[in-house]
Amino acid sequence: MELACLDLEGVLIPEIWIAFAEKTGIEELKATTRDIPDYDVLMKQRLRLLDQHGYGLPQIQEVIGELDPLPGARDFLDWLRERFQVVILSDTFYEFAMPLMKKLGFPALLCHKLEVAENGQITNYLLRQRDPKRQSVRAFQLLNYRVIAAGDSYNDTTMLGQAEAGILFHAPQNVIEEFPQFPAVHTFDDLKQEFLKASAVHSA
Ligand SMILES: [Mg+2]
Repeated sequence: MELACLDLEGVLIPEIWIAFAEKTGIEELKATTRDIPDYDVLMKQRLRLLDQHGYGLPQIQEVIGELDPLPGARDFLDWLRERFQVVILSDTFYEFAMPLMKKLGFPALLCHKLEVAENGQITNYLLRQRDPKRQSVRAFQLLNYRVIAAGDSYNDTTMLGQAEAGILFHAPQNVIEEFPQFPAVHTFDDLKQEFLKASAVHSA
């Protein structure tokens, strides 16, 4: 049995924090782990900025609801789901992803969770586990699934390495160079071909 695992941001939807920063004009929200390597420090800063600008979860979901999946993403995902069981493995939060998951037809999603007060203020965040994407692939393998995984960035590389086949999609050049063991493609048509090539069931 084969399972396809997909990263979400940068693969099927835009980077949520960047898109949110652009929509709202809050420049400091564009900071990523490249600017602030300590994820906890980065997230605390993000939550503080949201508070300062008066954004609780309802307002954030409204802005995110105006975003769209990347062009071709929905068709690709539908194509993939006809051929594989598909699980999306993401480092985002359910509460942020939901407006966009609706536009993708609510595929299975494993990610993190926010703590939200009654007035909508985001008070904290709960990471599901450490190295969650790789751990998820490991768990699927224990269930006798053969896993083909695709993602765009550093936080995907342990998942790609754990999977029976890993594919880089939309990855920046430095990631492609650092991980030459993974095929790297940039269009959904090429990504389909890589999934077929990696499959033990379907053929390209
Ligand atoms: Mg990504």
